[in-house]
This record gives sequence, structure tokens and C-alpha cells, in this order.
Amino acid sequence: MEINNVPYKIAYKDIRNPRLEFKAGNLTLHLPYGYKDEQKLLEKYENWILKKYLFIKECRELADQKILNNLSDNEFKDIASDLIKKHDLNNKINGLSFRNFKSKWASINSKNQITLNKKMAFLPEHLIEYIVFHEIMHTIEKRHGAVFKELIKKRYKDHKKYEKDLYAYWLLISDRGRS
Ligand SMILES: [Zn+2]
Repeated sequence: MEINNVPYKIAYKDIRNPRLEFKAGNLTLHLPYGYKDEQKLLEKYENWILKKYLFIKECRELADQKILNNLSDNEFKDIASDLIKKHDLNNKINGLSFRNFKSKWASINSKNQITLNKKMAFLPEHLIEYIVFHEIMHTIEKRHGAVFKELIKKRYKDHKKYEKDLYAYWLLISDRGRS
């Protein structure tokens, strides 16, 4: 199935509201059982779908030029700890752990403990730093609103380029897992 040349799949589920998801570049419509308004839903999110699709397409082209880093567990952990020391100027961070997330690079909880995705060991150091910096800024502002964007922009004027590169690496790492 397609909308504006964007292919998509449908997954019926035991959910109340429909949800659209781009995962590793593929669009899936998660729909409640018996849902009939698929066309309406697609029309409503047409612009969002197209924007996201073009972003992913661009990132896919970018991914062809990227080479994965291959840090050992220890190297990655050392780098991550050092980066936290570098950017956690107010000593807010209370812990650092590592796990395999399926759909995000990192997270921070209400106790200011950071968890990093182990897949970050495939990233170049400047992108590891960008992610760590992002999580530390959440000690100042929780949500991804305008305030947060300003905090990021203060250090990363070209943050959009970083986001694109990160997504390119995400696609590259996802593809790698598949082959
Ligand atoms: Zn965040």
C-alpha cells in the first residue's frame, strides 16, 4: 500500500487509538481491530508522513557515506563517563548504565540516572558527545520544547545536522542487524 509514493504496512492491534510509526524508515499504521477510517487517517497525517519520509530518504543517502565505529565495551564506557564529567557542570548526574534500547539512543530518569544504548559504541565520538549532552540538558529542562532547543543550540548551532547524522547511523545499524 502507498500514500504519495510512501509505502506502508498495517498492523491491527488491541489498541484504542490509531498510531503511525516510522521504524528504521518504514511506515506502519497501528490500527484498532475493525478500524475503517484508514484513508481519513492517512489524509490527516499526509504532510507529516511526507516530511518524515523525505527526511529518512535523505538520511539513507547520508548513511551510504558513513562508516561505523567499533568501540569495545570498555572504551565506550570510559568515553561516556568522561563526557558526563565534561558536561555535568552542576554534578547532577547520579548514575550511568547501558542497555540495548530498540527505539532510542538514551534516556534519563527522574533520579537523573542516564542509560545509554549499547549501540552507541558504533557511533563516532562527536555524536556520542551530542547524545550525552542532550541527556544532561534534561536535568535543566525535561521536555523537548523551545527552552530545551535553546539549551542545545547554545552548544550545537548545527544541531539539525547532528540529528540527521544520528538518524543515518541508526538506519545503518538497523540494516546491519538485518543482514
Ligand atoms: Zn531528550
